Amino acid sequence: NRRVILKRHVTGFPSEDDMEVVAGGARLAVPPGSAAVVLKNLYLSCDPYMRGRMSMQNRRSYVPVFVPGEILVGHGVSRVVASGHPDFEVGDHVWGMTGWEEYTLIPNPESLFKTNHPEMPLSYYTGVLGMPGLTAYAGLYDVAKPKKGDYVFVSAASGAVGQIVGQLAKLAGCYVVGSAGSDEKVCETPGTKFGFDEAFNYKKQQDLNAALQRYFPEGIDIYFENVGGTMLDAVLLNMRMHGRIAVCGMISQYNLEQPEGIQNLSSLIIKCVRMEGFLVSDYFGQYHKFEEEMVGYLKDGKIAYVEDVAEGLEKAPAALIGLFTGRNVGKQLVTVARE
Ligand code: NDP
Repeated sequence: NRRVILKRHVTGFPSEDDMEVVAGGARLAVPPGSAAVVLKNLYLSCDPYMRGRMSMQNRRSYVPVFVPGEILVGHGVSRVVASGHPDFEVGDHVWGMTGWEEYTLIPNPESLFKTNHPEMPLSYYTGVLGMPGLTAYAGLYDVAKPKKGDYVFVSAASGAVGQIVGQLAKLAGCYVVGSAGSDEKVCETPGTKFGFDEAFNYKKQQDLNAALQRYFPEGIDIYFENVGGTMLDAVLLNMRMHGRIAVCGMISQYNLEQPEGIQNLSSLIIKCVRMEGFLVSDYFGQYHKFEEEMVGYLKDGKIAYVEDVAEGLEKAPAALIGLFTGRNVGKQLVTVARE
């Protein structure tokens, strides 16, 4: 049972060397009389929030930190290979929290979701049909509340969450602009496959405020915030009256010891803007409604989806840290096994 462990707590940018793939571990079986399941892990999801769990103290979240020498955990898609639980049968495919390893014993499987659409690629349950897809859906519809004709800006627009946000906003009749960190990403994903109205490479802009003024001469109604920092500051200057900022994440801040100061918060007052954070975990109760809707969009070709697949558990550490240099194009996941 090969697994990925954290070698040491991380300060600053994480490196591959902060993790290690180790072999060994006992063969896993359901203890007699327990309601546990054993999962064979197929696809693991690389998610930015995992960085917080690698620090000595997780100041940004209530999720506990990883312990050096112990295994990483995160979302994944798995097959049940042994079950003591009446709701799970051997052969069921599920997604939810699991270990970064080949096989995982889950003592309380009630938090796992079964995948209801075998006609969909299983890996999609790490992204568009899993936690990031639900994040996009909840953040856009419940927090930002788009209206037809709204001007919408999405940062990290090529990524797992951003690509879905922008496309859902287009379906809601909005004008959508996305930013991403390379010309290749801009032109491949928000610019073409996802059908955004405009997209730009934020790393090439000398003045983000001026860039946003060019793309939004009338201002921004909705900003879907994935990155924070200087981008947020520039967006604040460009919001429209009664605009909404759905604060999903601030990846530019996750490796900084001292978060960057935001200068332009008074725009919230002047423009009567509502800025609201949210956590996807508050929306898991809506998962099945979301899954049905999103499967429909995928089948009808209304949503395109791009994933970035690293092959093999050995690639997991590099894939995870690649999120923080923007190496991924689309949803970053790791294939551990195909069946
Ligand atoms: P992505 O697939 O978008 O990958 C991360 C991307 O962030 C990179 O590809 C890179 O794209 C961009 N990035 C990395 N470093 C920086 C930086 N310093 N400045 C600007 N951009 C940077 O990740 P996800 O879609 O999974 O996550 C997007 C955001 O959503 C994150 O902030 C995450 O924490 C948050 N999130 C929040 C949830 C919630 O419940 N609130 C749930 C899930 C995710 P580029 O090349 O374009 O720079």
